[in-house]
This record gives sequence, structure tokens and C-alpha cells, in this order.
Amino acid sequence: MAALILQVDGLTVSFDGFKAVDGLDFYVEQDELRCVIGPNGAGKTTLLDMICGKTKPSSGTIKFRNLELSEMIEYQITRAGVGRKFQNPSVYEDLTVFENLEISYPKKRNVFGSLFFRRTDEIAGRIETQAEQIFLRDQLRTKAGLLSHGQKQWLEIGMLLMQEPELLLLDEPVAGMSPRERELTAELLNKITAGRSLVVIEHDMTFVRMIARKVTVLHQGKLLAEGTMDEVQADERVIETYLGH
Ligand code: ADP
Ligand code: MG
Repeated sequence: MAALILQVDGLTVSFDGFKAVDGLDFYVEQDELRCVIGPNGAGKTTLLDMICGKTKPSSGTIKFRNLELSEMIEYQITRAGVGRKFQNPSVYEDLTVFENLEISYPKKRNVFGSLFFRRTDEIAGRIETQAEQIFLRDQLRTKAGLLSHGQKQWLEIGMLLMQEPELLLLDEPVAGMSPRERELTAELLNKITAGRSLVVIEHDMTFVRMIARKVTVLHQGKLLAEGTMDEVQADERVIETYLGH
């Protein structure tokens, strides 16, 4: 078995007594692409909120490599190598695609601790490569506000990739995308999982099938089923609570 990059044990959070995530164990391996599915309100987004430090768990542990994330705050978690994409794309609409990618490039500190910038042409090369990968090579000078909803989703993924996260969490990345954009996104995710781990929450089963290896099904904050797409699709409990509708 490959090494685990993320190890979630007994994770629970309650909001005024209501357990949105309830005693969840969830393990992700290095280089794995994991899909998380489940009905609305299953606790999928809340799970990501706790991994990235947005929501504090009531109990349980979240180990990322040797770090306990539940004891860290959001920016420390980001800097440790965990990227998070929220459901709605958040890009800087007034900036160009190039500028959006540029500001996401991690700033380095020199040996004296002051901020310095890498050679401009080196960064430009990195930005162009990134834009190419997210299908926006021809839009580098376009203001992000003028992009389609799907292109904004890609741009935000590109902004996260500029920081080279080891673990990337994506919440409904194909929401609002055309079928063609969904296919390209599947291609993108299949490619970027080499060398990093991805956790992808998604509702669109056609899309999930294009990227699925192991699938986790959540229901009422708990693990309902886990396995290959074929296994979870054939699971009686999954059909009853989710896929059958
Ligand atoms: P999913 O992403 O699977 O659709 P969520 O994680 O968004 O589900 O929500 C799980 C449940 O927790 C829902 O019933 C939701 O209303 C509730 N919930 C999520 N966040 C909060 C919060 N901050 N306060 C109260 N209830 C919340
Ligand atoms: Mg959600």
C-alpha cells in the first residue's frame, strides 16, 4: 500500500448539536485521486472545510503527512501544501489571466528574510506553462471577468497549481461547465494527479466516471460506502439513499 498523505480519524463537527460530519474515517494515499459523492447535506463541503482549517472539528484528528491540521490555522495549512478550491470560482475579475496566475506564484524569502522576486522571465515561463495546462494559453491578456464560468473554474485551479500543493481539494469543480468543458476538466485532473493527491467532490456522475479510481460515498456525515465506481454503484445502500433518485 502506498503511503498515506491524509489520515482523518473519528472526525466530527456539530453545529448547535447537529452533526454535519459524524465520526468519519477517511484515508487518502500519495498520488491518489479520490472522488467524494453523496446527497446534498451529506457533509462533503464541511469535510473539506475542516481539512483546510476553515471549520474547527468538535473532535477527531486530521493528519497531513506528519502535521495535525486541526491544530493549525488556514494560512499555515495552505503553506504546508494543501490547496482548496471552493464551489464558486474566486478569481480577481479585474485582473488578466496572466496577473491572476502571477499573484498566485508563491513569494520567496532570501537568506536575510526579506521578500524577493524571481527573475521575471522565469515566472512568465511558469505562468505560460500553467495557462497552457488549464486551456487558457490564448486568454493570458484577457480580464478574468470576461471568461466563461468554466474558464474561471480552470483559472482558479491554475492559481492553486501555481503554489504546487501536495494535496488539492476541489469542491464541485465542473459546476456550470458545458459537456466539452467537463471532458477537458477530467483530462486536466487525470493529468495533475501525477505527483500529488486530489480529493474531488462532485455530483455529476458522468464526470465522476471519467476520473474515478476509488470513490467515497458520504451520507448524513458518515461513510456510507467506499470502493470502485462499479462497486459503489452496485451497493444497495448507495442506490437507496443516493443514486436511485
Ligand atoms: P454537502 O456539501 O454534502 O452538500 P455540507 O457539508 O454543505 O453538505 O452541509 C452538511 C450539513 O451541515 C447541512 O445540513 C448543512 O446545512 C449543515 N451546515 C454546514 N455548515 C454549517 C454551519 N456553518 N452552520 C450550521 N449548519 C451547517
Ligand atoms: Mg457542498
